[in-house]
Amino acid sequence: MENSEVKCGGIVPSVVMKETVRQRVKKTVFLNPNLIEKQGITPEGVEKIMTLHMRKLVIVDAMEACNPVIDGAKLRELADQVTEIEFELQEAWRFPRNIDYHKFWELPHCSCPKMDNNDDWGTPYHHYSEKCVLHADEG
Ligand SMILES: [Zn+2]
Repeated sequence: MENSEVKCGGIVPSVVMKETVRQRVKKTVFLNPNLIEKQGITPEGVEKIMTLHMRKLVIVDAMEACNPVIDGAKLRELADQVTEIEFELQEAWRFPRNIDYHKFWELPHCSCPKMDNNDDWGTPYHHYSEKCVLHADEG
């Protein structure tokens, strides 16, 4: 029987779910063909990028399923996993590993200031909220 559910931190992807995730990634992730060519990304590289986006989507789903009031530690662990995937994505795109380009404020349950972070995206200036369940200790 193929069945799986998204729980906070407990992810058991089934074949069916993997296919669903793949379809969702194909619908939501647009890989710029000009950038693929410019960076010299091979078809295998494109496949790797799509797989990384699938892994990220599954983790983001699991984060959404968490209760920020009681699942803070689990949420921070999942956020660290997303950070690692973002680094792998940069490598897959043949860009340097650079945390200044990670949009950490887009993660579920993040309450860091979004506009300030969008404005300073790509710079070492990151804006954290001391009330953010994910990033309170980063500031
Ligand atoms: Zn945050």
